[in-house]
Amino acid sequence: MTIDPTEAIRPWDEDRAWRMACLARWGMPKTVDLQRFARESQRVDGAFAIRRLVRLLEGLPEQSLVRNVSVAAEQDNGVVWYSLTGQMQLGRKPQVLLKVQAQILLTCQRCMQPLIYTVNESVLFDVVRQESALNDANDAEPFDPETPEELMADPRFDIEQLIEDQLILAVPYVPKHENCTAAASPSQEEPETPRVSPFGSLAALKGR
Ligand SMILES: [Zn+2]
Repeated sequence: MTIDPTEAIRPWDEDRAWRMACLARWGMPKTVDLQRFARESQRVDGAFAIRRLVRLLEGLPEQSLVRNVSVAAEQDNGVVWYSLTGQMQLGRKPQVLLKVQAQILLTCQRCMQPLIYTVNESVLFDVVRQESALNDANDAEPFDPETPEELMADPRFDIEQLIEDQLILAVPYVPKHENCTAAASPSQEEPETPRVSPFGSLAALKGR
């Protein structure tokens, strides 16, 4: 689940157009009939303020305040972008693909300074009808990319909860800067320039 910042930044920049499109549906995701959503290959894109995700933010530093869509268009952190896409393939269960991106403010556990962590996840799920067929999402089995995780068909499926669960899974338990100044020996106290500036993307956006 560890995201190498050098890996994460590339898709982040590439997906800027997608994130801007998500802003057209600013606000909390609505519930959907998951089985129908998948069978009819529906799709929903959206964005909302990360501050709404109380479960995720428990124990984390205060996130950037994003009150509305115009603020979200100006700053990358404090916002959750998502798309959920249904698909029906021959001989397969109905599926949904969740794509979620966010920049989450964490605290580096080495130097105790702020760290912006980029989440960029795409997860495929089978939509199943029988509870007995449902995988235990909390089991410790190694992730097998060939076997999609399973979601219960639900006529009032809560997309927000799915997004929050994925973000919780994505956030490292012990976050650390990749190049942490606290890791330097005492003779090398000159602070390193962080490779990923929390506000670098904002500055780039404003510079346009
Ligand atoms: Zn650090």
